Amino acid sequence: MEIACLDLEGVLIPEIWIEFANKIGIEELKATTRDIPDYDVLMKQRLSILEKHGLGLNEIQEVIATLSPLEGAREFIDWLRERFQVVILSDTFYEFSQPLMRQLGFPTLFCHRLIADENGKIVDYKLRQADPKKQSIHAFHTLYYRCIAAGDSYNDTTMLAQADAGILFKSPQNVIDEFPQFPAVHTYEDLKKEFIKASNRELTL
Ligand SMILES: [Mg+2]
Repeated sequence: MEIACLDLEGVLIPEIWIEFANKIGIEELKATTRDIPDYDVLMKQRLSILEKHGLGLNEIQEVIATLSPLEGAREFIDWLRERFQVVILSDTFYEFSQPLMRQLGFPTLFCHRLIADENGKIVDYKLRQADPKKQSIHAFHTLYYRCIAAGDSYNDTTMLAQADAGILFKSPQNVIDEFPQFPAVHTYEDLKKEFIKASNRELTL
């Protein structure tokens, strides 16, 4: 059997921190790993900004609930789930992604966790494991699943390389140029075709 492994942000939904920062109008929340490469430093900064503005989990989820998946994402994931077992491998947090996952029909999601106190204040975060996307593919291989993976960014490339087939989706040009070994597509229709091509079964659109 085959598992389709998908990145979440940039593939099915917008970048949550950036959309959230836009919605709520806090410019300093827009920093990403491109600005602050050390993820621990970045997360500590994000949590202190949230605290400064008195934003706890409830307020954050209310704002995130007003966001939508990318156009066509729900139709795509429904299509994919009829043909593959689908697992989403993401570096987001369950508590953030919940409102958007609802709109996607709650496909299986492996990601990280936020720790909140009784008042909803986010006090810490818990990463599931190091290099979780690649490790998940490795684990599926030990279960004799063939894996086809798609993602948009640098944090997906070890997953794409570990998978039996890797696909870049909606990637920026620098990622496409740096990883020419992976096919790169930009629409869900083309992504469906790449999954069909990569499958070892006879699938149709
Ligand atoms: Mg992404």
